[in-house]
Amino acid sequence: MKIVFASGNSGKLREASEIFKGFEIISIKSYQDWIPPEENGSTFLQNSVVKAEAASRVVRDLPVLADDSGLVVPALGGAPGIMSARFSAEGTDEANRAKLLAMLKGVRDRSAYFACSAVMIFPDGSVIAERGVCPGRIIDEQRGGNGFGYDPVFVPDGFSETLAELPEEVKNSLSHRGTAFGKLISKISRSN
Ligand code: IMP
Repeated sequence: MKIVFASGNSGKLREASEIFKGFEIISIKSYQDWIPPEENGSTFLQNSVVKAEAASRVVRDLPVLADDSGLVVPALGGAPGIMSARFSAEGTDEANRAKLLAMLKGVRDRSAYFACSAVMIFPDGSVIAERGVCPGRIIDEQRGGNGFGYDPVFVPDGFSETLAELPEEVKNSLSHRGTAFGKLISKISRSN
């Protein structure tokens, strides 16, 4: 089955292709009519639906997949949350991580979690949605070269390595995206 993934984030695309084994994941960027929508929702779920609906207006003959995800830090009142990709003025992964570490300087509660809302819309209009979370903590240094985003500063519960130090298949087996996508795959498999 071919699935069009509504994201321009290469890290997410790589993970989606790994997790949706046996499926062919196509980037929405290969559709010339695709314009990324304004993410104007106030929750991960709302923003994932915004992206999936925008993609399904361009892709008519294949299922579309969209996710909205981010890092939630209770000590920062839930920030960066849905603003994770646009947390710093520059909006780069590096600047976002630097801003996070600066805001957490001297903060004792380092607990955090990643959340992912994943939505699929099929050509017949049917919709399925799932959610995944990955609990852990923010360390005060950056370690590892795998993954993307906040991975070098995030240590998942039960590990001493950051997500950027763990092999990609280990990250995918425990991550918010791996969990949400895995539940979608189970739903698709049950209905076929
Ligand atoms: P989105 O593309 O609007 O869903 O924003 C996702 C942002 O959340 C990314 O740009 C990262 O900053 C962060 N993020 C989401 N998932 C991950 C992950 O698995 N590892 C590290 N950062 C992530």
